[in-house]
Amino acid sequence: MLKRNRYMDRGTCLVWVFGDYADYFQNRVTLQLIAKGKALASELGTRVGVVVLGEDIGQYVMEYVAHGADVIYAADNNALKDYDVELFTAVAASWVEIFRPEIFLAGATAFGRELFPRIAKRLRTGLSADCVALEIDRETGAFVQTTPAFGGDLLADVVTPVMRPQMATVHPGIFRELPHDPFALAELIHPPLPNLPERKIEVVRRRKEKARRASLTDAGVVIVGGKGVGSRANFDKLFQLAELLGGEVGATRPAVNAGWAGEERLLGQTGKSVRPRLLITIGTSGALQYTAGIRGSETVIAVNRDHSAPIFGLADLGIVGDADRILSLLIEELNRRL
Ligand SMILES: Cc1cc2nc3c(=O)[nH]c(=O)nc-3n(C[C@H](O)[C@H](O)[C@H](O)COP(=O)(O)OP(=O)(O)OC[C@H]3O[C@@H](n4cnc5c(N)ncnc54)[C@H](O)[C@@H]3O)c2cc1C
Repeated sequence: MLKRNRYMDRGTCLVWVFGDYADYFQNRVTLQLIAKGKALASELGTRVGVVVLGEDIGQYVMEYVAHGADVIYAADNNALKDYDVELFTAVAASWVEIFRPEIFLAGATAFGRELFPRIAKRLRTGLSADCVALEIDRETGAFVQTTPAFGGDLLADVVTPVMRPQMATVHPGIFRELPHDPFALAELIHPPLPNLPERKIEVVRRRKEKARRASLTDAGVVIVGGKGVGSRANFDKLFQLAELLGGEVGATRPAVNAGWAGEERLLGQTGKSVRPRLLITIGTSGALQYTAGIRGSETVIAVNRDHSAPIFGLADLGIVGDADRILSLLIEELNRRL
């Protein structure tokens, strides 16, 4: 439910999230960022606001409120019906100049990755891309954005000491969304629209991608295969195991490059992040760029023939053995039991 208001409270909502509602039911990253934004806002003694642009956006606004948004900054306008990076940049940047948020977050989706660098450039502020953790430093009050750096060889803590807002895009699946509360209240603000640039792109038609998309980010069980799985035929056994356990299949970069799995199954810094109850990782060494995508998993079981593989440092349970042999044994045993 919304409490209408003019924007008298400007300045009291310092943590913003960009409402990316494309593919709402698959893409939960905005809800995850509202939850994280709320936690950050409470540490800063402020509130979390969500910027929602488009036409007929009421249903998304209500969802964001139900998932924890304290303030909604909305433009429900036919001119914003189709996403256009230049128009959305113009509106978001002008609203930042009015309300001056301290922090501005978006999902590291195709949408956020295109829009946020433009907004940051327009506002002459910094942007940390593909963050895997965010926190407020209790001693300095700095907003610490943790992101893979130097080609992903290490995780860097980035701060933006001077320019505002402090902007970051964040991997889907890193944070947990808050439960849906149909009785939640929020303040609704309709800030003025700036003069909008002319559209340079006209959307002629939209077509849904036909390929079945793995719902990896929501799966309770994820089986991941790496280079050590060895072959396409061996990798196909991961799908059998996933089916027996009601899960989904993920892959590391070498497995994707070998053509054993599609790019949509890639986990890690340049792929998806998952947080299943159970993740079984087979024939993966445990490179940082990969483990950045599986850190949120509740229980990790690793299979590797090399007992000193770094993946065992992250795993709750390690099995030293041949990938194909362990896969075959697991499938055989599950087939016997189920
Ligand atoms: C900028 C950048 C971004 C990157 N982003 C990503 C990303 O998003 N996701 C990603 O996955 N990678 C990414 N990478 C690549 C990453 O650095 C690693 O190279 C990759 O994750 C390694 O994949 P892997 O563990 O499958 O292969 P390897 O590192 O080659 O490990 C294979 C493992 O399998 C074991 N093994 C071999 N044979 C067997 C067997 N028969 N049985 C059991 N175990 C066996 C080996 O002991 C070894 O530990 C990125 C790299 C860069 C530079």
